[in-house]
Amino acid sequence: MSGDVPVMYSDTGSVDLRSTMDIQITALEWMPFGDGYLKYYPDTDEDVYLEQTQDGSLIVRPEKYRERVLSEFDYPLDQVYHGENELLLRLKEYYKNCWALKLHDPYISLIITILTQNKTADSARKTFHRLQHHYKGIDVYKMASADKKELEELIRTSGPYKADFIIRCSQEIIDRWGGSLEWMRTAPTQEAREALMSLYGVGPKTADCVLLFALGHSVVAVDTHICRVSERTGLSLATGDSEAAKRRVKEDLERKHRIPGMAHLLIINLGRDFCKAVLPLHHECPVEDICPKRGIRKEKGLGLIEE
Ligand code: SF4
Repeated sequence: MSGDVPVMYSDTGSVDLRSTMDIQITALEWMPFGDGYLKYYPDTDEDVYLEQTQDGSLIVRPEKYRERVLSEFDYPLDQVYHGENELLLRLKEYYKNCWALKLHDPYISLIITILTQNKTADSARKTFHRLQHHYKGIDVYKMASADKKELEELIRTSGPYKADFIIRCSQEIIDRWGGSLEWMRTAPTQEAREALMSLYGVGPKTADCVLLFALGHSVVAVDTHICRVSERTGLSLATGDSEAAKRRVKEDLERKHRIPGMAHLLIINLGRDFCKAVLPLHHECPVEDICPKRGIRKEKGLGLIEE
């Protein structure tokens, strides 16, 4: 969708920065800092700060980066779903001020997604920021020849074992594709997905995140949270979050509901804000009146939990 929707900078007055920064791999280059977010730009060797004020305006420091930062905002999420599912239409309206950020460099997306594996987004953000500063901007060549012990220490809080993933998959990208993943942008989705998954340390969800957030393929990246919300809302009839259930959820969302990849951010938002694993906030939820709440039962004294 990047490039399809002309965006004037003034349009970003509708941005809800918190939800925009929370849920997409593209946003994880921004690290929470004070009341806003910090991003390192390797080409100028500077940190840039972004904050939203009470009245909704966006502050960028240093000011000279304003246009560059605002140009990273691509389109609001109310432009991502054009089907007829009532629940998704409701979410599209509710999260209309959450913005998709511009497509990412696929190698950077890959490294950030590896850092998020089994870790929180905040942990990955801090680790990525540290890596960027240490290497003055990472790239496939720097990472392929990185000192393993040093890298393990730099990424310790996101899982030191991932140093092996990062070094080996970077070496593979150089050996097999001349150091670039760009060819995957125009390759058939399944071919690109299989190629990514053949890299050391890359599983289905990591591959789907890179395909979606960096390469423009319309895929849904399924994780435990997507499984939970899809089951409860009836978007999928799969149960649990086994690998078989994840495949079923992916098929239901991509084929049955024809959800364009970026629309799955609506489901992630719902899970994060209301449909929590424990004690979901039904009474505040924007889809409460149309949600079947599959797999949920009343548990005395604990509120509502999963069966
Ligand atoms: S109503 Fe409850 S179960 Fe349904 S989506 Fe909202 S929080 Fe989840």
